Amino acid sequence: MPDADLLPDARDALHATFGFSAFRGVQEDVVARVLEGRSTLAVMPTGAGKSLTYQLPAVMQEGTCVVVSPLIALMHDQLRSATANGIRAATLTSADADRGLTMDRFRAGELDLLYVAPERASQSYFRELLEQARVSLFAIDEAHCVSEWGHDFRPDYRLLKPLLDAFPTVPRLALTATADHHTRSDILAQLGIPADGLIVAGFDRPNIRYAIRPRENAMRQIKAVIDENPGPGIVYAPTRARVEQLAETLAAATGRRVLPYHAGLDPDVRARNQAAFVASEDMVMVATVAFGMGIDKPDVRFVAHAGIPKSIEAYYQETGRAGRDGDPSVAVMFWGADDFARARQRLSEIEPHRLQSERQRLDALAGLVETAECRRAVLLRHFGETPAQTCGNCDNCLEPAGVIDVTELARKLLSTVYRTGQSYGLGHLEKVLCGISDDRVLQRAHDQLSVFGILTEDEKPLLKPLARALQARGSLLPTEHGGLALGGDARAILKGEVPVAIVVPPKRERKRRGGGDTGANPVGNPLFEALRALRRDLAQQAGVPPYVIFHDATLREMATVHPNSLSELGAIGGVGARKLEAYGEEFLSVIRQH
Ligand code: ADP
Ligand code: ZN
Repeated sequence: MPDADLLPDARDALHATFGFSAFRGVQEDVVARVLEGRSTLAVMPTGAGKSLTYQLPAVMQEGTCVVVSPLIALMHDQLRSATANGIRAATLTSADADRGLTMDRFRAGELDLLYVAPERASQSYFRELLEQARVSLFAIDEAHCVSEWGHDFRPDYRLLKPLLDAFPTVPRLALTATADHHTRSDILAQLGIPADGLIVAGFDRPNIRYAIRPRENAMRQIKAVIDENPGPGIVYAPTRARVEQLAETLAAATGRRVLPYHAGLDPDVRARNQAAFVASEDMVMVATVAFGMGIDKPDVRFVAHAGIPKSIEAYYQETGRAGRDGDPSVAVMFWGADDFARARQRLSEIEPHRLQSERQRLDALAGLVETAECRRAVLLRHFGETPAQTCGNCDNCLEPAGVIDVTELARKLLSTVYRTGQSYGLGHLEKVLCGISDDRVLQRAHDQLSVFGILTEDEKPLLKPLARALQARGSLLPTEHGGLALGGDARAILKGEVPVAIVVPPKRERKRRGGGDTGANPVGNPLFEALRALRRDLAQQAGVPPYVIFHDATLREMATVHPNSLSELGAIGGVGARKLEAYGEEFLSVIRQH
C-alpha cells in the first residue's frame, strides 16, 4: 500500500513542478513505492511518462537522484525538459566541459538530478564521488540494456550492480518499455530488485489510431497521410535508396518540409536533419529504422510505414513514437506481397537454431496485417494482455472489413502453381487461370492444363488479394527467378484440409479521418496561431524545441479557456510554477490581445 502521508505531497509537487493535475496510469504506484524507499522495476510503454516517476521523487527528496542513461542525446534531451520545469539537473558525460562544476554542485547537494552514462559506474573515482554526496535514488533508464535477452544489450550495464550494492540504503528504480517476460525477470535479477517490485503498465496507446493497408502506390498513399496530418510525422522506408527517393518526391508533392535520415548520410547532415525535426511543428522525416532510438519528440502526429517492419515488436516500438503527448495520432502501414516474399527469402539465410522463432515472428506479423479483427486487440494480445474485442480507433473497427472464404480459389491458384512447375510469376499464372493463350502459354502448352480458364468472373478480382495473402502467410514462396512455389501449408490447402479466407477492405473508402480532428490543434485559429508564434520565438531565444516551452495541449487549453490572470494561467495543464514565472506574462498579453 502506498504511504498515505506522502501522496498528497506528491500531488502538490506534481502540480507545482510540472503543472499536471493528476498522475497517469501506474505513475502514482511507482512514485509511491519510490518515496517509500523500495526498489522498483517499472515497465511502461513509450509516452506513459516514465521520466516523471524519478524526477518527481528527485524534487521532493533531499539529496540527488542519479540517473543512468545509455545515450548522451537522450540525457541532454531530459536535461532540457527538466531544467525548463525548474528542476536542478546536470549531465556528467564526455561531452560536458563543465564536469568539475557539476561535481562540485553534486557534492554540495545542489542537484536534484545527475545524469550519467553506465560506463562511469565502473570507474573508481565515480564511486568515491557518490560517497561524498547524498544520493536519494538510483534511476536506471532503458533498463533492458542490462539483459542479454533484450534487443540492445549493453555490457556496461552489467557493471551497475556492484556500484548499486555499495549503497544498500539507496532505492533503485529501473525503467523500460520492453515487454517480454524473459527480459523483465533478467532485469530484476541483474539489478537486485525484488520480484514484488515489478510494476507493469498496460501496453495500450489509446490515442494512436492504427491502420494497415495493401500498398497500391506508396507515394500517393503516403502523400494522402501527410496531407491529412499537418503536424510532424515520420515515414519509415526499408532501404536508404528508398528513403532518398521518397523524401525527394514527397517534398515536391506535399509542399511540406521533408528530410531524409539513414545511416549512410554524413553524420553532420544526420544530426542537422534530426535537430530540424525535433524543433519543427510540421516537418516530415523519411527514415530507415536507424531513426527514432533516443528521439523524445512528444508531438509526432503520424508514423507511416512504406513497407513491413521486422516484427510486431518493432511495429509497436516504431508506431509508438507517435503521440507521446497523448494527443490523437495515426499509425499507417502500407504493405505488399513482395515485403513478405523478401522477408521469407531472408529466412533461408538464417542459422537453423533461430529459424523457427524468426518464422514465428513473421507469421505473427502476417496475422496482424491480414486480420479483419480489431488491430489493437491483436497487438495487445500479442503482448499477453486481454483487451476488449473492439477499440473503435483502428481501421477495422471504424470501417469493418469483409471476410470472404476463398478456399476454392486458393486451391485453383495453388494447383496452377504446381502444374506449371512452380517457377512462374503471378502474371503468367493469371493468364493460365483466366484462359488467355499468349505465346508463352501456348509454347509451354499451358492451355492444355485442366486449370486453363477455370476462373469465374467473380473470382478474377480476388486473385491478386489472395496471392498477396498467401505470400504473407508463406503458403506461396518466391523462387530465385521471380516465380512462385508452394510453401508452408500449401499442400494442406490443396487437399482441402485448411480453409482460406481473405480480408477485403470496404469498397468505398470513407473519408479517412486523420489524427487531425478529435481534440487536435485548431490550426488556423488566430489565438492558437498567435500562441504558437510566441512559443516559437521563446523556443528560439532559449535554443530549445517548442514543446519544451509548452505542449500543444497547453496552448489549446489557453486558447479555449482565455485565462486572464497569472493564477488562472497557472491552473492550466502543463503550466508549472517555473514556467508560469518565466513565460506567464508574455502568454497572458497575447491572450488579452484576442
Ligand atoms: P516515456 O519516457 O515513458 O516515453 P515521457 O516521460 O517522455 O514518457 O513522457 C511523455 C509525455 O507525457 C511527456 O511529454 C510528459 O510531459 C507527459 N506526461 C507525463 N506525465 C504526465 C501526467 N501525469 N499528466 C500529463 N502529462 C504527463
Ligand atoms: Zn480496433
